[in-house]
Amino acid sequence: MRRDADVLIAGAGPTGLVLAIDLARRGVRALLVEKADRLFPGSRGKGLQPRSQEVLDDLGVLPAIQAAGSLYPRMLRWEGTERRGEWDMMKRAEPTARIPYANTLLIPQSRTQELLRARLVELGGEVRFGAELTGFREYADGVEAELSRDGAACETVRAAFLVAADGGRSTVRRALGIGMTGETVDPRPMLVADVRLAPEAGVDRGNWHVWPTAPGGGVALCPLPGGDVFQLIASFEDAAAVVDTAPEAVRDLLAARTPLAAKDVVEVVWASGFRARAAMADRFRAGRVFLAGDAAHVHSPAGGQGLNTGIQDAYNLGWKLGQVLRHGAPAALLDSYEAERLPVAADVLGISTRIHRASAEGESTQRGEEVQQLGLGYRDSALAAETRTGLAEDALRAGDRAPDGPCGDGRRLFDLFRGPHFTLLAVGTALPGLPGAPTCIRTARIAAYEPYGTGLFLIRPDGYVGWAGATADGLDAYLAAVGAAPAPVTAPA
Ligand SMILES: Cc1cc2nc3c(=O)[nH]c(=O)nc-3n(C[C@H](O)[C@H](O)[C@H](O)COP(=O)(O)OP(=O)(O)OC[C@H]3O[C@@H](n4cnc5c(N)ncnc54)[C@H](O)[C@@H]3O)c2cc1C
Repeated sequence: MRRDADVLIAGAGPTGLVLAIDLARRGVRALLVEKADRLFPGSRGKGLQPRSQEVLDDLGVLPAIQAAGSLYPRMLRWEGTERRGEWDMMKRAEPTARIPYANTLLIPQSRTQELLRARLVELGGEVRFGAELTGFREYADGVEAELSRDGAACETVRAAFLVAADGGRSTVRRALGIGMTGETVDPRPMLVADVRLAPEAGVDRGNWHVWPTAPGGGVALCPLPGGDVFQLIASFEDAAAVVDTAPEAVRDLLAARTPLAAKDVVEVVWASGFRARAAMADRFRAGRVFLAGDAAHVHSPAGGQGLNTGIQDAYNLGWKLGQVLRHGAPAALLDSYEAERLPVAADVLGISTRIHRASAEGESTQRGEEVQQLGLGYRDSALAAETRTGLAEDALRAGDRAPDGPCGDGRRLFDLFRGPHFTLLAVGTALPGLPGAPTCIRTARIAAYEPYGTGLFLIRPDGYVGWAGATADGLDAYLAAVGAAPAPVTAPA
């Protein structure tokens, strides 16, 4: 089959953009199509978890994200005009040698997407706007997809693989007939909107203001960094309520539930209604088609997990597609995408649902380590090869996130890991000779370092320990399985 691209990605949300960046830096030809004529304009997924920040560091976009984001302000609880106390929604922590990004960053989803797109363009990629994937067929050697513009078929695109990053209502998932199993977390609807408030309204930008007992349902106003906009979230006590997103209705809601007047809302920049759902696709892969992000799992916004989990899906899939398409890795490597990400998505769904229900019951809403995604790993994966025995309970093992730390020469481990390669790290031991010159592995030796102990660690391109050993026995076989064996071949998948 003639191929227009190696990978066709449907949907330029955070998931599709991260995947396109990762593939671009691997020299994989990806075509990213987006049915809308511009990026999503709302602040929706505004919490970037520490693990996502590590991914964005690797992809070269974190400095821009840090400059545009801020820490979460303290919550300030109101009853009418009475202040009723402050607390931190996000538990604050100091960075450590092994965890350089310790806090959740606040940044509007629209800004994150703009910065991701800018990075993609820097790497030579682009988003093709106004291009909706409407259908596709799969062949033995590729996928042929129909694109439409303004409802009219406009192009047929052929690619080796198709990734559905087309959101919760995924056209691709539906076309495949893959079911979503899940539940409504809360039958009561919610409104989310970005509102610009008049300075005279007196809503300070140093706090995230909440009126939990407002008539009709709780209201929260979170100041978004980089401007004068607040994210408004309003819940409705009445499950049958119809959420009106018209600017006048948003103004009236704030006037009815808070001390603000309707005229204090200078502009309603964006507004949407939703009901919290938790659901997961029954499969994340069908042949040459992969589901990622909201197309594979939808979350309650509580706990800020959806966008972050989509970023991790893309990051897990990107290097595997790159190894198969560019380095001749066995196609079986791609089986590990669903095997690794489906259990993670199930765990994360459980977390956001628990947090949502606890908040709705008025229980403590402080978020701790469970939402940071630093503890997620792939120990049970077929790609986690732990060849050492007798390890201590808390030892770093194959499948775990590879922690950061000093290298002893002024650099950090994350400096060594940054890029599309594997890193063979010898910690407190000698590096083995690697026969040939595999292009996708770098090697480094550091002194014994407590989070690693001593030994040989092969760090995957997505920052997890793939293989670990006291000696290099078994390393060759592992490298062959991931397309990192000496004398790599480039073969069409
Ligand atoms: C109120 C609220 C608050 C939230 N807060 C957080 C938070 O703090 N942290 C967090 O992690 N998550 C949060 N989320 C969730 C987060 O917004 C989503 O999980 C995230 O947007 C999913 O990204 P995605 O790229 O997978 O899908 P989407 O962002 O939905 O992007 C899919 C894209 O695909 C396009 N598309 C759809 N169909 C097609 C097609 N057929 N062809 C081409 N393009 C198509 C769409 O136009 C869209 O641009 C929140 C959600 C809500 C509603």
